[in-house]
Amino acid sequence: MGEDTIIRTTDRQRTYALHREQVLPQFAFELHVLAGEPRQILEILIANGVDDSLRDEHVVGAHQHTAIHAVATAQVPELRGHMRVTVGAPVVPVSGGFTGRQAMLLHDLGPQVLVSTPSYALVIAQAVHDAGIDPAALRLELGLFGGEPWTEGLREEIERALPGLRAVNFYGLSEMCGPGVAAECVEVRDGLHVHEDHFLVEVVDPVSGAPLDEGTEGELVFTTLRKEAMPLLRYRTGDIASVVVEPCRCGRTTARIRGLRGRRDDVIIVRGVNVYPSNVEHALLSVPEAGPHYQLVVERAGLMDELTVQCEPAGPEVDHGRLRADVEHVLREHLGIRVRVDVFEHGTVPRSEGKAVRVVHRG
Ligand SMILES: [Zn+2]
Repeated sequence: MGEDTIIRTTDRQRTYALHREQVLPQFAFELHVLAGEPRQILEILIANGVDDSLRDEHVVGAHQHTAIHAVATAQVPELRGHMRVTVGAPVVPVSGGFTGRQAMLLHDLGPQVLVSTPSYALVIAQAVHDAGIDPAALRLELGLFGGEPWTEGLREEIERALPGLRAVNFYGLSEMCGPGVAAECVEVRDGLHVHEDHFLVEVVDPVSGAPLDEGTEGELVFTTLRKEAMPLLRYRTGDIASVVVEPCRCGRTTARIRGLRGRRDDVIIVRGVNVYPSNVEHALLSVPEAGPHYQLVVERAGLMDELTVQCEPAGPEVDHGRLRADVEHVLREHLGIRVRVDVFEHGTVPRSEGKAVRVVHRG
């Protein structure tokens, strides 16, 4: 056990000595139960510039529970060589929660890749700030964020909160392999490249099930091509998006998923208008004074669903009355309906430590 196999830091009065070979084995049991396809997440990492040039210096901070499994699966014995040779980046599986500790690990271990849900990345960024750590001094370069739909506005918020990090969207299903079904390329970020050597993707009409043309929005359907023991044939995901097959400007030629809006059952019907939480996020984040945290409260009033958007100001100095009026205005412009807006005190809209709870049903 040579010194070069130890990650050691004594910064901030704490000492870590994580033996690289020992970071993951405790997860082996869960990995065998999961029996997913580990290669796709490796391919995402490699496609996004995580390679063996990062060996010995860099740590992947994996925060999302499923992502931890997927990244860690590379330590299954038959793939261990692949992980070491091709990626070489040690993984620190932290999972959700203890957000102050996440900030501490980001500071002390200096990982370059953060894997989490996009909403939790913002919570971690706030914890970094609260711990008195300069986020620009972190070594983060790449954020792999997925597990919930998110918008360009949220991407900008994350990149502003964690300077130096480039945020990339990934997609997966726990029924198939967890994260790793598709991911944006870090260069262009225009649609999520599907790993077509493992998955066949189709888009169908969510009601009739009929296949739809390229570029038309519908429900994503996947067939696994290499999965053993539990293959899936034309599995209906419930996720709404479109697929294009023209080559990406990055040079890759795979099909790409665009416009991931969320699940079919996430849709809220307000006075006959279909509203996805991501539609609200898109509108909300076009208001500079609005913070990136929000919840949609749906209440049944008679036969109709009534929607209230709960949001908060980006900073304590913002005037609540003006923010409410501005948000009501953009929501009416984007959604075509009037929606009630409640402005909470800065920092009081509930945060998540995993997937954000965007919709709350009452009554
Ligand atoms: Zn691309």
